Amino acid sequence: MNERTIRNSIPRFIDARKLAQKDAVIEGNVIINSLDRLSELAHNQSDVITVTFAFDIDDHGYIVIQGEIKSEIALTCQRCLEPMIFPIDTSVNIAVVRDQEAAKQLPKSLDPWIVESESADLYELIEEEILLEVPIAPFHEHQCIPENLFSSGEKPKEIPKTNPFSVLEQLKGSSSKSD
Ligand SMILES: [Zn+2]
Repeated sequence: MNERTIRNSIPRFIDARKLAQKDAVIEGNVIINSLDRLSELAHNQSDVITVTFAFDIDDHGYIVIQGEIKSEIALTCQRCLEPMIFPIDTSVNIAVVRDQEAAKQLPKSLDPWIVESESADLYELIEEEILLEVPIAPFHEHQCIPENLFSSGEKPKEIPKTNPFSVLEQLKGSSSKSD
């Protein structure tokens, strides 16, 4: 095992430059409930997020962090309101920069992480990366509520399948004709 590898306890605040100079690797777990915004969405707050981050200074002098974030977040299905497991398995390839201006200079292969002071909040980065993956309206893949539940025994009403754009098209068509 690499002696530079820090295992199991992910420090919240880090000095990214120092870690990059040492080629440090941070590996371990963060409990979901230590991330405020994510724990508002998650039913499984005591479960963990597994993180691996490798720090490096690349050929262009950028402080880069490459790694992976893995977890399973129990979100609320927006159809049946029961929990549903949403797997997270995301890669990060970021450069630590001081401000927006520096962020704009980065090559496209690197995502910016703006850190204004020496101390960077690694939990915030992890949370941001996960929230990017989480759908706004998660649904079970299966039909978790039978369709006829809404119709209380009656046959479900036929909803005419009209294209919402067809009305616009008709309007367009009629206006061009009247010209
Ligand atoms: Zn559901």
